[in-house]
Amino acid sequence: MKIFRVGEKSKGVCENCKSVVPTTFSICSVQLPSGKGKVPDVLAASCDYCGRVVSIPQQSAPRIKEALNTKKHSIEARLPRHLLDVLLLASDKFDLGNPEPLRDTLVRYYIGLAESDKEMVKKIKKFSKSDFAKGSGFRLSLKVNEAIFERFEHLLEMTNLSKTQLLKGIILLINEDILQKPLKKRLNELQKVLLAAA
Ligand SMILES: [Zn+2]
Repeated sequence: MKIFRVGEKSKGVCENCKSVVPTTFSICSVQLPSGKGKVPDVLAASCDYCGRVVSIPQQSAPRIKEALNTKKHSIEARLPRHLLDVLLLASDKFDLGNPEPLRDTLVRYYIGLAESDKEMVKKIKKFSKSDFAKGSGFRLSLKVNEAIFERFEHLLEMTNLSKTQLLKGIILLINEDILQKPLKKRLNELQKVLLAAA
C-alpha cells in the first residue's frame, strides 16, 4: 500500500471537470459513501482546478470507519435498584477505581460475548424471567457504538425478549459470573478488558 503525504501530487478523474486532472493531497472533509454527513480531517486528493475530492487513499479508511463508529447509540431501561447495585458491585470487584465507567464496559463486553454463545443466550433468557429480575423504577442508560448496538439488536431477535428483559438477563448473568459463582478464567479475561477501559 502506498502511503501518501500532504502536498503530494497525483492524477485522477474529476467528475466536475469531466477529465483527467492533476490532484494534490490535502486534509479535507469528505462525504460519506451513504451520502449522510461528512467526515472532517481526512487525507484526500482534490482536483487542482476546481477543488473537488477526486480520490480517497486507503490510508484514510480507518479515520472514516472511526467516524462512522463513534455515532453513539444509547440503550435505556428502567430496572429494579438491586440490579443496578449488582452492576456496580461487579465492576467494583476489579479494584480499578471508580466503578461507574467500568459498568458500561462490563455490559458492552457481555453483549459482545453473549451474541456468539448459545449457552449464554439460554441463561440470559432464563434469568430474565426469574423472580430476581422483577421490578423497575431506576434508569440505566448505556452509551454504545454502532457495532455493539447491532449485537444488542441481534440478541433481541435471538431471544425474543424486550430491551428491558434482555438487560435484566445480562445483568443477572454478570451476577452469576462475577459475584455468585466467579470463574477464574472469566475474571482474568475481564480484568484485562476493564483495565484497558479504565
Ligand atoms: Zn475538477
